[in-house]
Amino acid sequence: MTNPIDDAAAEPGAVPVDVTTIHPGPSGGGEWFGHPRQLARLFSTEMWERFGYYGMRALLTLYLAQHFLFSDTTTTGVYGGFTALVYLTPLIGGLLADRYLGSKRAVKFGAIVMAIGYLILSYQGDPAKPFAMIEGQRYEVAIEGKGDARQQFVVDAGQKLLIKGNDDKTVSLLDAGGKEVRKIADGQFKSDGERSPTTVFLLLTGLALVTIGNGFFKPNISTMVGSLYAPGDGRRDAGFTIFYMGINLGSLFSQFLCPLLALGMGSWEGIGWWAGFLLASAGMFLSWALIQFDGGALDSVGNRPADAPANKDLLIYVGALAMAPVVWLLFSNLMGYVRPEAGAGLVGYFMGLPIMGKMMFGTFLVAVPAILFWAWKNGSKQEFQMMLAAMVLITFNTVFWTLFEQAGSSLTLFAERNTNLSVFGLFEINAAQTQIFNALFIVLLAPVFSALWIRLSNRGLEPTIPMKFAVALMGVGAGFLFLVFGAQFADGQFQVGLWWLAGLYLIHSMAELLISPVGLSMITKLSIARIVGLMMGVWFLSISVAQYVAGVVAQFASVETVGGQVTNLKVSLDTYVGVFTTIGWVSVGIGALLMVLAIPLKKLMHGVK
Ligand code: GLN
Repeated sequence: MTNPIDDAAAEPGAVPVDVTTIHPGPSGGGEWFGHPRQLARLFSTEMWERFGYYGMRALLTLYLAQHFLFSDTTTTGVYGGFTALVYLTPLIGGLLADRYLGSKRAVKFGAIVMAIGYLILSYQGDPAKPFAMIEGQRYEVAIEGKGDARQQFVVDAGQKLLIKGNDDKTVSLLDAGGKEVRKIADGQFKSDGERSPTTVFLLLTGLALVTIGNGFFKPNISTMVGSLYAPGDGRRDAGFTIFYMGINLGSLFSQFLCPLLALGMGSWEGIGWWAGFLLASAGMFLSWALIQFDGGALDSVGNRPADAPANKDLLIYVGALAMAPVVWLLFSNLMGYVRPEAGAGLVGYFMGLPIMGKMMFGTFLVAVPAILFWAWKNGSKQEFQMMLAAMVLITFNTVFWTLFEQAGSSLTLFAERNTNLSVFGLFEINAAQTQIFNALFIVLLAPVFSALWIRLSNRGLEPTIPMKFAVALMGVGAGFLFLVFGAQFADGQFQVGLWWLAGLYLIHSMAELLISPVGLSMITKLSIARIVGLMMGVWFLSISVAQYVAGVVAQFASVETVGGQVTNLKVSLDTYVGVFTTIGWVSVGIGALLMVLAIPLKKLMHGVK
């Protein structure tokens, strides 16, 4: 994104005293809560976009596990790969906006593509038909009952046998009198589902379009916010906090409503998956309409860079859509993928990754040094140092999101299986709706944190950005350790109270406020101005790598299911507790390391706060 204001930032040391009078730019023309009035439109556009994204996210894992009957490993692998690519494409979308389109066109195009993607996801087709492979032979599976009372049976020569997973991971088949008719060794019972190829085709097509659309949308709406403020304008951080409120307000409503339509609540069974995705799509169309028909509100923001080569818009749009089959193939490559065995060594691990994994790590490992090299050649020493600091923080950022993004996958499955979803014994929410806690806490806490920073900074006590990042890393780990602590109070059904999960989300949300809005704002400050869109892309690239690793972590937390339901809740609880304990402590440790690095990093940042 290039505009006169951001170009002025090319000399970071030389911030004019009263920059707003020198560069009235887009900040002119009225205010909204003390901010440039354009922030209002960006706020609502992003709010509805996130409404769509998080509405879809709330449903996706359970949709894969319960409607498509994928195993946990496939579900979390596909989910991780999809969300990884969703955050990878912003690198390209940011670059194309910087050079050719300008942010606004990119956002509009992305919005419409995502809306169509959600619409396609709402085609649910018929549910997959469950079956089981027992010692290599196929048996039909019948499911009876609803919710936690569901029971699964294998049908063998007309006889219905209840499937019971044992604590030692063997499986028993019981007759109507509860007598064990057959015992199957660990690993010899594999459940699966028969899926319609058309439905799977459309699922991956929808996901591919969301991925492409988000690449155009997400980095550029953020750089548009950054462009509203002249360098040195003290309102920038607060502006991003308000923007972040918009993000979470959107997700708050959709994480409640989309699962409500899809899965119902209490005794109401809802309308169907399709209705949840359709609502997400409607929100996304609204987001598009808000920016497409802005009534001139954004005339001065996010326009095509002055030095852009001749109009290549059509080529870019067609090219982007032509990538859909490629993305589709990447997702389909993830589907049959089996996690590499532990002990394969680092190289073995890398080689065993699906194409997507190789691409992900490869891009990060190439992009970060390449951009730094560019900065070293083309920037001043100070600019290079600031870029270096940004890159170090971006790298630590991956650890945070790896843990945080368990929300959509392993934590949602945990909520479904090992959480008592009753709210004060008054009513029950569904597992997908537990994702709401994060958004809720962010909306409540963002203003508190904002006020806190102002107070602390008035006394000269505001922590540095690296310090905030370090505490965030420790916090996201501590959140998991909190849930692990709560797991010892699980009831006889091996379910923990909802409040332990809510507590995890509270801690995670506080940590998020230390890293996420701070990070977006930091990128627009530390970056060399003419590549700020690209740098925003690198920020999202680090989240992308994290999403992928998050998928792998969630795969480690896989448990056996039949017809989308776990066969033994104790094994399931133990598995989650094991994985959550490990990642919790690792993150606390990495946070401590960053705390030590915070001092040299501060020097590299040349006064950017
Ligand atoms: N909740 C925030 C958003 O959707 C942050 C998520 C992220 O950047 N990983 O923008």
